[in-house]
Amino acid sequence: MTGQAIPTTTSELQAVSHTGKVILVGSGPGDPDLLTVKALRLLQQAEVVVHDRLVSEEIIALINPQAECFFVGKQAGNHCVPQSGINQLLVDLSLQGKQVIRLKGGDPFIFGRGGEELEALLPFNIPFEVVPGITAASGCAAYAGIPLTHRDYTQGVQFITGHLKNDSHQLDWPLLGKATHTLVFYMGLTQSTGIANNLIKHGMDVDMPVAIVEKGTSKQQRTLQGSLKDLGDLAAQAESPSLIIIGQVTQLASKLDWFSATLNTAE
Ligand code: SAH
Repeated sequence: MTGQAIPTTTSELQAVSHTGKVILVGSGPGDPDLLTVKALRLLQQAEVVVHDRLVSEEIIALINPQAECFFVGKQAGNHCVPQSGINQLLVDLSLQGKQVIRLKGGDPFIFGRGGEELEALLPFNIPFEVVPGITAASGCAAYAGIPLTHRDYTQGVQFITGHLKNDSHQLDWPLLGKATHTLVFYMGLTQSTGIANNLIKHGMDVDMPVAIVEKGTSKQQRTLQGSLKDLGDLAAQAESPSLIIIGQVTQLASKLDWFSATLNTAE
């Protein structure tokens, strides 16, 4: 790395002309090596960073030490800063002329409320950019040895939120119960028994293989495998953040899991 870089990208030029803006940046699922080159560069040059609970400590450590950091982390049912407060903070900071890095776990546009935060900027004509990140499904599946699609087992994959606002009627269970593609539930731990019951009620085999990947891509990663009828019991043993993967492909973890072997030998 050389000393003073000449600004080349739109965001860097905006920064020198002191126009505020928001850059929504995905941090990936945890392993700092899974940051994009662009995300790393932005973090190292950051002026202001607003980040969530899901951003790993190793990634926080890469932020420019001179940057002003705001933690607005959320846990299910326990919102540190309500979404409206986060939106307001982004507006206020950028109207002060700051370039705000809004750092989110995984990909900002997959169950990350990234869209809502950008919409909040529109009335103020605040410019923005989006830097995609590796979403938990891709990261966890890769590190657990679960190909989300595989020609011998499944022709598709679906990402679904398990965090349902009122009751489970928001999801099309009759369709999901007949699914032959891989289902990935984000935020599904607390609803896991309901998810399994609904899928079984609508036709899915009770023995459909499932996996829960806990703290995926981190040194604490754990994969719990079983069948759909046991999903609630498996989930009771898992901690957040965890991802639920349902489908034949989850069986492949038994032979394709390469990551836990690297953890065992690293000690
Ligand atoms: N925008 C994020 C998802 C936010 S929703 C993304 O693209 O990944 C939060 C949910 O993501 C968690 O409840 C969990 O289901 C999942 N998740 C995020 N990081 C994870 C990780 N390292 N391991 C397992 N699941 C994870």
